[in-house]
Amino acid sequence: MVRKNREVKIAGKIVVEDLYIIAGQCTIDVKNPALFQETSHALKEAGVNAIRGGVWKPRTLPSSYQGDDKSLQIIADVKKSLALPIVVEIMEEYQIDLAIAAGVDVFQVGARNSLNYGLLKSIGKKIANRPEITVLHKRPIHMGDIDEWIGAADYVGRDVIFCPRGFKPTISGFRNHPDESITLLLNERVGNPVIVDPSHSMGRPDFVKKAALAAIAYGCDGLIIESHIDPPKGLGDDPKQSILPKDVKELIPKLKQIYQMVR
Ligand code: PEP
Ligand code: MN
Repeated sequence: MVRKNREVKIAGKIVVEDLYIIAGQCTIDVKNPALFQETSHALKEAGVNAIRGGVWKPRTLPSSYQGDDKSLQIIADVKKSLALPIVVEIMEEYQIDLAIAAGVDVFQVGARNSLNYGLLKSIGKKIANRPEITVLHKRPIHMGDIDEWIGAADYVGRDVIFCPRGFKPTISGFRNHPDESITLLLNERVGNPVIVDPSHSMGRPDFVKKAALAAIAYGCDGLIIESHIDPPKGLGDDPKQSILPKDVKELIPKLKQIYQMVR
């Protein structure tokens, strides 16, 4: 069901046609929508294809900021003003209908839910008659056979985009065990589009840029990068791993060069 489909689209555009860059804040701060708006505008200017923004967040501790339903409106407004597709992580079943109503283009299934068959089935059922919605299926957080990850995507019942993001146990000093090279295997075994997340793999802004370049060299179709206009003011992962929109702007021509070189 999820095999060898190179036709997967985001908002009508075939992902593998050209380098596909998604960028945006890890976490939208419901109390400070201006930061998210500024970040997203700067990223559009940098040339990204889609905007990401965390409305609901999987946090290690329940005492950390968990996100807010109201941030969905903030990202929906940004979609309208920038005319770019938006990517939001879905963590719980009740969020599916809200995200559909808000016009979310890409449902991210995060690393903590990639093997949550119930959630995957619910997403599949609710978007069954909505071909315009795409699923970005992240690699599970803990090391496992990649067939587990690939097989879990079948629960969605449609072709997904696979998203390597590193895994645990980590290499000391990195946030996770970097896995940009897994694209080689995915391309051989699955063939669906691969969008690599160097931000969660590396967890450090200076390393994120290098990993982004390496990921493209390994043949992935695009990247999802955490970026924030003012990282110290951010929430979630933004203070520690987001790169600036101007860094994204500088990076894109280099990524394009490598993308062309390996194709
Ligand atoms: C995120 O994209 O902000 C996130 C929490 O990702 P992951 O599920 O890969 O940890
Ligand atoms: Mn994050």
